Amino acid sequence: MTDGTVFQTNLSAGSGATRKFDVLVRLIRAAQPISRTEIAARLEIDKSTVSEYVKSLLRTGIVTDEALFTGDSGRRSRALVFADDGSYFIGVNLGVRTTQVGTTNLVGDITEIDDFQTQSDPELVLRRSKELIEQIFESRGRERCRMIGICVPGLTDGDRRKLIYAPNLNWRDVDIAGYFDDLGDIGIVVENDSSAAAMYEARLQLRSPGLEKSNDFVLVRSGTGIGVGLVIGGEVYRGAGAARGIAGEFGHMTIVAGGKPCVCGNRGCWEKYASAASAASLYLGDRPLRPNESLPRFVEIVGKAENGEIRAQRTLEKIGEYLGVGIANVIMGVGIPRVVVSGRLVYGWRFIEKPLRDAVKKSIVGSMKGWTVEAGEPVGAAIGGALEVAADEFLRRLEI
Ligand SMILES: [Zn+2]
Repeated sequence: MTDGTVFQTNLSAGSGATRKFDVLVRLIRAAQPISRTEIAARLEIDKSTVSEYVKSLLRTGIVTDEALFTGDSGRRSRALVFADDGSYFIGVNLGVRTTQVGTTNLVGDITEIDDFQTQSDPELVLRRSKELIEQIFESRGRERCRMIGICVPGLTDGDRRKLIYAPNLNWRDVDIAGYFDDLGDIGIVVENDSSAAAMYEARLQLRSPGLEKSNDFVLVRSGTGIGVGLVIGGEVYRGAGAARGIAGEFGHMTIVAGGKPCVCGNRGCWEKYASAASAASLYLGDRPLRPNESLPRFVEIVGKAENGEIRAQRTLEKIGEYLGVGIANVIMGVGIPRVVVSGRLVYGWRFIEKPLRDAVKKSIVGSMKGWTVEAGEPVGAAIGGALEVAADEFLRRLEI
C-alpha cells in the first residue's frame, strides 16, 4: 500500500523513538476538531486504520468524539477533540530577561500566565518559579497536573533534566529538574528554548493542511540571542550520543573572525551581529554609552526605521544581511531548505527580509531551487514552547 508506506516513512523519520500513534495524536491536537475522514486524507492512510487508532485513543478518555454541524447544509458529522477534564500542564520559560510561568490543557488554551524578571542567581529564579507552581497547584489541584516543561536559553543534557550551559545567563551545570523533585510525582522535562519553540511552531503549522508528510524546517529565533531548532519529520532533532541536547547551537558559530567579544568567551559569534539585541549597539555605531544614555530597544529602532530614519533602516538592513549569511551556513550545514524566523526580530521584517534574501542568494544555497525563508511569530513561542514540551511529553508517555 503506497499510502501506508508514506505514513510509515513519516513515522520513522524522527528520533527513532516515534511511535505509530504520535503523528496521529499530534495532528488531532493541532487541528481539533477533526474528523476521521480528514485525518485519513491528510496522513494518506486508510480510514479503517484511522478508526483503529482512534478507538484506542478514545479508550484513554483524553479524546472524545463530538457531533459537529458543518457546511452550509448544517449536516451533522463527528469530529475528534481533546477532552477538557480539568487536567493541565505547567510551563516555565526561563528567559534571559524574563521568566514566564503558565498553564495549558490539551484543548490548547493557555489559561494563566505570570512572569518576573530573571535574576542572575539560579537559586532565586528556581525558588520563585517553584512558588508560582505551588500557587497553581493550590488553585487547580496538584493531582490534575500532568507534566511540567521548563525551557532554558542554553544547552541541556541528554536526559533533559539539567542545564549544561547558558552563555547569556552565565549559568553552568544547574540541576533544574532536581530542584523541583520535591513537588511530588510529576514528570519534569527541561528543554532548550529554541527546540521548544520549534515544537510549538511545528504544531501551529499542522493546523492547516499541507505539511503532514514533509514537516522539515529550521526555526531561527532571534531575540536577546540567536537559537536554532531543527524539526525533521515533525520531530525536533536534539543531536546524537554524547552531543544529545546540543544540536542547533548556531548562535555561537563564528561569523566574523576576531569580531565583537561574546559572553561565551569567543569573538565574532552570529548572535553578536544578527540578534534583535545586537541592533542596539549597531545603531549606536558600536560606541560605549554616554552618561544617562540607555540602549534603544529593538522595537524603538523599528519605529524609527518606519518613520523614515536612515540610520535605523541601515541598522536593520545590516542585521538582515548577517542573518542571511548565517542562515545560508545553517541550510548548508543541516541540509534543510526551509527556514522560519521567529522572535522579536520579526517586528523589523519589512527592512530585514530583502538583505537577508540577497545574502542567502550569494551562497551556494542561492543557486539551489526551493529554499524558503519566512517570518514566524514575534512573540508567544517562549511560554508556548515550554507548554508544548510538557503536553508533548505527556502524550508521548501515554500508554495506549
Ligand atoms: Zn558566543
